[in-house]
Amino acid sequence: MSEIRYDLLHDEYILIAPERLHRPIPEASATLPEPRICPFCPGHEELTPQEIFAIRQDGRWQTRVIPNLYKAVQIETPYDSSCDGINERWGGYGAHEILVDTPLHDATLASMSTQEIFWWLKTIQERVEDLAKDPKLVGIDIFKNYGLKAGATQPHPHTQIIALPILSKHQKRAFDHAWRYYQEHGRSLHQDIATFESQRERALYETTHFFTFAPYASSFPFETILLAKEHATIAGMKETLLQELATHIHKLFVALQAELGQFDYNLLFYLPPLNQNFENAHFFGQKERIFRFFVRVTPRIYTLAGFELLTHSAINPVQPELAAKLLRRYYEAGS
Ligand SMILES: [Zn+2]
Repeated sequence: MSEIRYDLLHDEYILIAPERLHRPIPEASATLPEPRICPFCPGHEELTPQEIFAIRQDGRWQTRVIPNLYKAVQIETPYDSSCDGINERWGGYGAHEILVDTPLHDATLASMSTQEIFWWLKTIQERVEDLAKDPKLVGIDIFKNYGLKAGATQPHPHTQIIALPILSKHQKRAFDHAWRYYQEHGRSLHQDIATFESQRERALYETTHFFTFAPYASSFPFETILLAKEHATIAGMKETLLQELATHIHKLFVALQAELGQFDYNLLFYLPPLNQNFENAHFFGQKERIFRFFVRVTPRIYTLAGFELLTHSAINPVQPELAAKLLRRYYEAGS
């Protein structure tokens, strides 16, 4: 049975999840080995747990959401917390789902059409809206691990969705930071970044509602952010805007793949808490003012080591201005 433990030494929450031990861990090699039978390919649906959600076109699924077989947390776990002396823990209550991005085993976000990326985004939106109905769920973590260096264990394109009864301390610090910025300036931190960066050499692509750029202090080589200019969350966003975001994602991955070839990466959704709790009550009602959601893409060209673990600061050998200059060539060629 999994649980969430509070790390008193480092002021952070840790998931202790014995079920994760049984997932297939690839042997050390440069690329992810191909499974003999892919459980995420069409025709093998019986190998996965009961479907939670799917988008179907002409009787065939385009995206599919299933519970993670090797889940870190589960809805069936009792929602409880207890103390053991100075240590605190919570039952591993929460949702851990797998979104199969596409029926195509070898697809990438560069090879997928904007319509296919739209279906993927629409599925994410549906899951965020549905999970928010459980008032006990607070933190929502949506991410893709693509390739061995990014921590993937399945080659078929997929996304993980984890909803927890707490916010990670790291996320809480980020929201508190945005909240303080708003109190000092009366404006959203993210909106200010979009306005300023859109005029700088790190800008890649801008449309009415989204802005893609290489962040000023990128932690990873060729790191990029796709920032919503007006919306705090993907929940409730109109389909035309999801189409607009799909275009940003497609153009970015075409550019990254043209520059880097096949590359491993993590893709992370930064979304506000689903529900109010003791940690976020001070800013939850203000989230539309203080926060704009964004998608962060971090190519994993180098592996992290002791310095990053120790300091939570990165050593990035590629200047963000150079990364933006190289990537912008493909936007200009494609437009
Ligand atoms: Zn497959």
